[in-house]
Amino acid sequence: MKALTLEVTRQYGEATHAACPCCHKRVQMMRIDPKKVSTLNGAFDLDRPYFYCKSCKTGFHPLDEALELAQEVHQYDMQETIARIAAKMPYDEASELFTQTTGLKLPGKHFGHDNLNRIGEVTKLEIVIPDKDEIEQRIDQAKGDSDELPVLAVACDGAHAPPAPKGEEAKGVRESGAK
Ligand SMILES: [Zn+2]
Repeated sequence: MKALTLEVTRQYGEATHAACPCCHKRVQMMRIDPKKVSTLNGAFDLDRPYFYCKSCKTGFHPLDEALELAQEVHQYDMQETIARIAAKMPYDEASELFTQTTGLKLPGKHFGHDNLNRIGEVTKLEIVIPDKDEIEQRIDQAKGDSDELPVLAVACDGAHAPPAPKGEEAKGVRESGAK
């Protein structure tokens, strides 16, 4: 993996021209941008060329794409691991367990929380919930030979609730229904 990264880095790191991802025109390198990269396998500094297409007004780092780098310093393997742990326990504990098991320190107290929020922003319910065909297939599977339709339950956790006024409590609603 490391050898491959080095090879890709060498190839892309020395390129003075690159094809624009929008119009595919070859554009000249503008500058070198340093980037800090942190992965479960360790951290390193990367100098990668930056290209800008004037026609499309788009800037891009081809090396980031080739290495499938996240925009953030902490790469997807770290983001996924902390997200999986943080889904099971409070953030403080999650971050402690992460450091104990990986030997890596997280950048701050809020990393676990911010990370899950970022994931939450893109994983809308319509993305997480399987589509109609998939659900029907699952119903068929669950039903088996029985005539009764199975119950479909959808739960959504992680709601933000403002601190409730005295004497009241923040309430959650869970809906489940059968056809
Ligand atoms: Zn372009």
